[in-house]
Amino acid sequence: MPLAQVECIVAGAGVVGLAVARALAQAGREVILIEAADRIGSETSSRNSEVIHAGIYYPPDSLMARLCVEGRTLLYAYCRERGIPHRQCGKLIVATSATELEQLPAIAARAARNGVTDLSQISVADARILEPALATTGALLSPSTGIIDSHAYMLSLLGDAENAGAVLALNSPVERGRVTDNGIVLDVGGAEPVRLACRLFVNAAGLAAPKLARLIKGLPPALVPREYYAKGDYFSHVGKAPFSRLIYPVPVKGALGIHLTLDMAGQARFGPDIEWVDTLNYDVDPAKAASFYAGVRRYFPDLKDGALVPAYSGIRPKIVPPDVASQDFVVQGPGVHGVPGLINLFGIESPGLTASLALAKLVAET
Ligand SMILES: Cc1cc2nc3c(=O)[nH]c(=O)nc-3n(C[C@H](O)[C@H](O)[C@H](O)COP(=O)(O)OP(=O)(O)OC[C@H]3O[C@@H](n4cnc5c(N)ncnc54)[C@H](O)[C@@H]3O)c2cc1C
Repeated sequence: MPLAQVECIVAGAGVVGLAVARALAQAGREVILIEAADRIGSETSSRNSEVIHAGIYYPPDSLMARLCVEGRTLLYAYCRERGIPHRQCGKLIVATSATELEQLPAIAARAARNGVTDLSQISVADARILEPALATTGALLSPSTGIIDSHAYMLSLLGDAENAGAVLALNSPVERGRVTDNGIVLDVGGAEPVRLACRLFVNAAGLAAPKLARLIKGLPPALVPREYYAKGDYFSHVGKAPFSRLIYPVPVKGALGIHLTLDMAGQARFGPDIEWVDTLNYDVDPAKAASFYAGVRRYFPDLKDGALVPAYSGIRPKIVPPDVASQDFVVQGPGVHGVPGLINLFGIESPGLTASLALAKLVAET
């Protein structure tokens, strides 16, 4: 097989790989972005809530907290500069009992430790003025939460990367690799298989990142985390959206609960829930409707029977099992695994969309 030499290869053209390819190309580096599927962003990056998160819940000092807050600022600025459809609509975290009400100050305090200092606690009356359909015992208002057209964003990232000289190869799965004295050699499949040597390889393969890392000979397998999949289903709301901002219940044991998000077309959807699965199956189980109605009616009692229809699902790329409450993003570079020119991105679940520009900056500086 012919061996071509490239400076940087990024595997995976989801929002993170696109942002990384853009950052590397804009830093003047030669980049090939290699994607297994026939289009960009067809996996987790098009199966999410499209929320620009403020950075409220993540453990203080975690990479998630830092990159979410930094990434959110970068993302709003980028959207404004490039005309990417987005809306800083804000979100309410709603208590529905006296016990939940008592938890709001702790949520606000954690947010403040993460640098999210604009949360304010509002009364039932004020919450009802903002959102008349809401049933609540009190709420936190997050003005810096928003929504984005993630597809327009990804196309813009690709345009930037290509303008800076990056090349996108679709239908090209990276099948295996090996560490050499001069970098990484990769075997890329597809209609015309090719062997590529690079100085920097960024593994941004999302759900498949641990599997791909295990196929790189010379990387100690013990350093690759085991993958777990946590599926989230969404149900759409039929008709006019009942709320004008995002509505999240108070989290229970770290789970965000069945929340309401909006897309740029004004469509309201509820979810995602969480279900640990072994395989990548994106079907939405209509039988889940009962638990969605129950979850949503805690804060939206007027939800009509028949108003929810199965919509779509996404799968969180977890690297911790269900009994571990939280995980952090892992940006695994030579400082951890000792292999020059290799960066693995593991566990890039939410808020990966929000954090994408900050993650890319970090990778380009690693
Ligand atoms: C249900 C859900 C809701 C979410 N909501 C939000 C939200 O509201 N806000 C937010 O900020 N974040 C959210 N996220 C997180 C966000 O969607 C992800 O962090 C982000 O999309 C991850 O992007 P990625 O590029 O790492 O992965 P992906 O989008 O999965 O991209 C990985 C790419 O790698 C490709 N690939 C795989 N193997 C190979 C290979 N061997 N060779 C070449 N290519 C390969 C895949 O085809 C894929 O295109 C949510 C996630 C989920 C699951």
